[in-house]
Amino acid sequence: MGNLNKKTVENLDVKGKKVLVRCDFNVKMENGVITSDKRVVAALPTIKYLIENGAKLILCSHLGRPKGEFNPEFSMKPVAECLSKYLGREVKLASDVVGESAQALAADLKEGEVMLLENVRFEPGETKNCPELSKKFAALADLYVSDAFGSVHRAHASTAGVAAYLPSAVGFLIQKELEVMGGALENPVRPLVAVLGGAKVSDKIGVIENLIEKCDTIIIGGGMAYTFFKALGKEVGTSICEYDKLDLARDLMAKAREKGVNFLIPVDNVIGKEYKEDTLFMRIYSDSIPDGWMGLDIGKTTQELFSKSIQGAGTVIWNGPMGVSEWENFAAGTTAVAQAIADSGAISIIGGGDSAAAIKKLGFADKMTHISTGGGASLEFLEGKELPGIACISEK
Ligand code: ADP
Ligand code: MG
Repeated sequence: MGNLNKKTVENLDVKGKKVLVRCDFNVKMENGVITSDKRVVAALPTIKYLIENGAKLILCSHLGRPKGEFNPEFSMKPVAECLSKYLGREVKLASDVVGESAQALAADLKEGEVMLLENVRFEPGETKNCPELSKKFAALADLYVSDAFGSVHRAHASTAGVAAYLPSAVGFLIQKELEVMGGALENPVRPLVAVLGGAKVSDKIGVIENLIEKCDTIIIGGGMAYTFFKALGKEVGTSICEYDKLDLARDLMAKAREKGVNFLIPVDNVIGKEYKEDTLFMRIYSDSIPDGWMGLDIGKTTQELFSKSIQGAGTVIWNGPMGVSEWENFAAGTTAVAQAIADSGAISIIGGGDSAAAIKKLGFADKMTHISTGGGASLEFLEGKELPGIACISEK
């Protein structure tokens, strides 16, 4: 993997150059108003660096899922206003993506000025990675910088195609993702411990397979644990369990044994009567779930078992909550594991959308080394897949 060898903005000579920057401005909106501008804030370091170094900036992003045609509901106008506020200067919004308005504004740019293209998904060629559209993006600029980590698993014209026609580099946001996550996978501080949870084994097969090759310990919690329970002949009651994945679960455990990987699953559980927030619940001192009950969190002994493994870790990669952490009665396992990671002093990396949300909600965000900004992209990264939006960037 050449992930650690990609050019970064600091390797480019940007003075006086028009730089097309693919950002992730896919902000949360309600009735035309931005309800969280975190993604805009996350993009600022790269943008400010380029301004300070005399580049002419052409920013672009998608927003929502317009269907390849102009739709005012998905206009970048609120993003342009938000950016203007943070940068303390006007960010002009083109009225099209690569048309006359975009071309005229780009031709007029002076050093340190910033413009924003309309929603790239107004162009039908965007999601089809159409070469004609990629060439039109390239014609606007001299250089291309990719900083939308949340979109690098998609081969679209503005995330991948355009890089074939311009010298390219990654921005600071992607650089950090590559350094921290890439570093943990390619050259980890050991022991490397993976904590995997969430609802389903089938969502995480690729992640488990890739991590078995690299980890010293794999910890399994959350709903997916019950498929492993069943595969080992234990009772699972009405727990979420993928009966068509039992052979796979057995294969994964055999592989771990073969590789000498420590493979931990829960030894006690918190169970509920029904899948709802205020259901009757209790802790059982057993790794067998009684009839008519479902496992909704790991138990206290398991918390201690998992925490002990985490204490000695050099690096922890975490994806997937240990239980239904959205509900207070079933959040203790996830909280305990988050606490153990925070106390461990290990390099800690959180991947996955729901995992990142859980960590933030439970108040551990600033205790982690790195919370990936891309849900789907971080999972594919942990699977060891080649990400088109990174593969296309020039090497140093
Ligand atoms: P991520 O988005 O971080 O990859 P997932 O989507 O795989 O994480 O998993 C998160 C979901 O798993 C949460 O909605 C959580 O409620 C659910 N979950 C965790 N444990 C259980 C369980 N024991 N039974 C049912 N659902 C669970
Ligand atoms: Mg999820």
